[in-house]
Amino acid sequence: MDVQTAAVDGRMFIDGTRTWAASGSTFEAIDPSIGRPFAAVALGDAGDVDAAVRASRQAIDGGWSGLPPVRRVRILNRLAALIRERATELAELESLDVGKPLRQARDDVTAAAGYFEFFAGVADKVFGSSIPLGAGLVDFTLRESLGISAQIVPWNYPLRLASRGIAPALACGNAVVATPSAEAGLSVVRLAELAVEAGLPGGVFNVVTGGRETGAALTAHSDINHITFTGSVPTGITIMKAAADHVVPVTLELGGKSPNLVFADADLERAAASSASTLMQNAAQTCTAPTRLLIDVSARDRFVELLAKRIRAIRLGRGLEDPDMGPVVSERQMQRVLDFIDAGARDGARAVTGGARATGRDLAGGYFIEPTLLDDVVPGTRLEQEEIFGPVLTVTTFNSTEEAIAIANGTPYGLVTGIWTRDLARALAVATAVKSGQVRINGYSAEGSIGLPFGGYRRSGFGREQGVEALANYTQIKNVMINFG
Ligand code: NAD
Repeated sequence: MDVQTAAVDGRMFIDGTRTWAASGSTFEAIDPSIGRPFAAVALGDAGDVDAAVRASRQAIDGGWSGLPPVRRVRILNRLAALIRERATELAELESLDVGKPLRQARDDVTAAAGYFEFFAGVADKVFGSSIPLGAGLVDFTLRESLGISAQIVPWNYPLRLASRGIAPALACGNAVVATPSAEAGLSVVRLAELAVEAGLPGGVFNVVTGGRETGAALTAHSDINHITFTGSVPTGITIMKAAADHVVPVTLELGGKSPNLVFADADLERAAASSASTLMQNAAQTCTAPTRLLIDVSARDRFVELLAKRIRAIRLGRGLEDPDMGPVVSERQMQRVLDFIDAGARDGARAVTGGARATGRDLAGGYFIEPTLLDDVVPGTRLEQEEIFGPVLTVTTFNSTEEAIAIANGTPYGLVTGIWTRDLARALAVATAVKSGQVRINGYSAEGSIGLPFGGYRRSGFGREQGVEALANYTQIKNVMINFG
């Protein structure tokens, strides 16, 4: 075991307390930068899930959902402040667990604090409405909490994505049972612990570690009232079926195959810089990553050259040493990505740079893949259609705006679309035509994006996270009519 083993607490968090699984079972958390275990983690089963759900129910019955909302505001703001205070500790844990560069893990911590600040800001503004019915009648709506929100957290951004779902759930007065992925998610347990330190009553926010079976036990539990899931389409389908058994609503974010349309009149330097940075960001294990580059054929050579130059300069290394790009999360994920690259080669794709496992003295044992740019990628091939979730950008050319839109819409996904052009009319025409929950024109990220509603069209899922729209996921509407005539 690594020297850090002693420092990392692998227990889960139920009813305000760190605890091992009742069975005593554990699994190993692997540091993907070296391919070696760094902690033993509690392997929760259906019994532990039941204990967490019961703790949540007791917290609700004990008055959590009926608290004056302004008290929830204070707790969530205190939690945000604690997250910022413990930024170094949280970022190091996330970097160790996921393999991402420390700077990126710090950005995740800032985003996590941002989610709690944003939803603290709206926790006492979950307004209902008044509906006119004429003389002698008053009618109004109440937006009430749902109860227990089950949150299945993926491994790519455990802290950030847990906060994205848990902050609005708590803001609306729900209790939460979260289960992170077995690949990575120890920061989610630490988040729950900090929440209690911030004043959240024990039992309101529980975390059961384990993985697939734990997630399945949670979604099968008869006393949950809602499910938030972020992950792959097949698992999303399984979860919808589990939710159907109990008739509970689900919020699904199922990833994407986001196209990035670069027109010949675009600022190619900026578009190339943006593409290279999305490749480095978490080794492109990001649901929103615009990995499918669609380039105007007349700008293709210049753009590919600019981009390849930037990609060749990317420095790989262990997350904690803060390189430009870290490893992918697991050996399985590495193999999956390499299989995609091989399948692409068989379908005629050409590696401009990268295309293999990255090796070297400093990378020994880690799950590193060379940052890869593949040209001549044919629409409809597996490489162009399926979510790779690794550091691979694909290039496909188009001859007209219509063709670009057709290729952009040519996968089952619809999460984000990037557009690069100086022609605003064209940008807006494309933005309207694409089947995508978000469109980003001439820039892929912006400060304050927590306020933007985020979610998918088509197989990318449904329901909106972030922004005030997220409140719809975590409340139910009660209509009250009074006849005083
Ligand atoms: P996955 O969809 O299998 O798992 C995601 C989460 O769901 C994990 O926490 C897992 O423990 C849990 N889970 C798995 N089976 C479950 C079940 N039956 N019931 C309840 N919970 C269950 O994803 P993965 O295997 O970790 O990764 C595979 C692919 O999924 C990736 O390569 C990527 O394409 C995609 N993915 C997307 C995102 C995203 O942000 N949209 C995140 C992670 C993975």
